[in-house]
Amino acid sequence: MQLCYRLFLLLSSLSLAGCSTVPHNVKDHFYDYHNLTTALHALTEECSTLFEAYSIGHTYEGREITAIKITRKTNQVLNKPGILAIFAEHAGEEETTSLAMGIMQYLIDKYPVDESISSLLGKTELWIVPMMNPDGVDYDLSGAVEPFTWRKNRRSTGTVTYGVDLNRNWGCPFEMQPSAGTGKRFSQKSSPNYAGDRPFSEPETRAVRDLLLAHRNIKILLDYHMGSAGFMQGAVGCSKGRGLRKGIHPRIDAFCNSFVDRFAENISDPQDSRPGFLVMSREGAAVLLRQRVPFYMRPFVPSILFQEPGTAVNYAYDQLNMPAIGIEMFRDSSFFKNLHDGQKRLTENQVRGILLLLNILAS
Ligand SMILES: [Zn+2]
Repeated sequence: MQLCYRLFLLLSSLSLAGCSTVPHNVKDHFYDYHNLTTALHALTEECSTLFEAYSIGHTYEGREITAIKITRKTNQVLNKPGILAIFAEHAGEEETTSLAMGIMQYLIDKYPVDESISSLLGKTELWIVPMMNPDGVDYDLSGAVEPFTWRKNRRSTGTVTYGVDLNRNWGCPFEMQPSAGTGKRFSQKSSPNYAGDRPFSEPETRAVRDLLLAHRNIKILLDYHMGSAGFMQGAVGCSKGRGLRKGIHPRIDAFCNSFVDRFAENISDPQDSRPGFLVMSREGAAVLLRQRVPFYMRPFVPSILFQEPGTAVNYAYDQLNMPAIGIEMFRDSSFFKNLHDGQKRLTENQVRGILLLLNILAS
């Protein structure tokens, strides 16, 4: 299929980096909005039996936010259970968009030759939002700032301040008032974590929320992030919120507990000595992190990790009663030394996790 070839070319171009640090011309290696749009168009035009593109809204600066539905089309109208995976909610985490494209390429390659994939996609839907924050991504890659550093969208919030942290802008619980614990992190417009002036003030968060609300057959949310904190290679799922909100959905908690260990095992990188992990609460995360970080860093890991408010995972779990997993992947300077291998391993690891969850939904 020509599309697959074209997509392969684009993905292959990501492999040209042999640099030891962040590549000079990052646009040659990572998708900006224009390249993504071109690639998605080719994908849906030429693999139309499997892929369907939906415009789910427009960003603050007017770029279209696209969701791809991946499923085997049948004549019957079936209410197939699905997963929604969102990528690049934070702008400077462009590797996650490459991961989204890698996952789709994997499915294109396997679909005609692997009966289990074809059968799985006959029974389930995988929804992918490959770039939730294209305004932020384009700014991050524009040369105006150091690449991989801009986090927020590009809303003008004052005379010299821009951007809302989309992953603090969801409701439940939404916080923007200064507090003793968090200072002005969520309220100050210049802060990388500025939450906006109200929940869902941003068109990007509204677009993904409305996608979830309109497709209640979507049963699991996956929110992919990329960080440089090496010990965070893992996922925190089914967030139990704070204080009185703990364990508000026992049925969902039990469902999550039934797959949590297998999911962690599946997303583990076989070449990394730190296995992937999935924890079901921030308290559990703190215990795990303290075991994983180097000895000298242990005093800096708090006994209970702060439960960040306004995240997609919190909203999906608390309000929509669905398992929701934030997946934190790892990047350090060595990641850029061999982008092709790094990105390939990320994709392979995360594809295993997604297939496991789709299989659980299909059974
Ligand atoms: Zn992030």
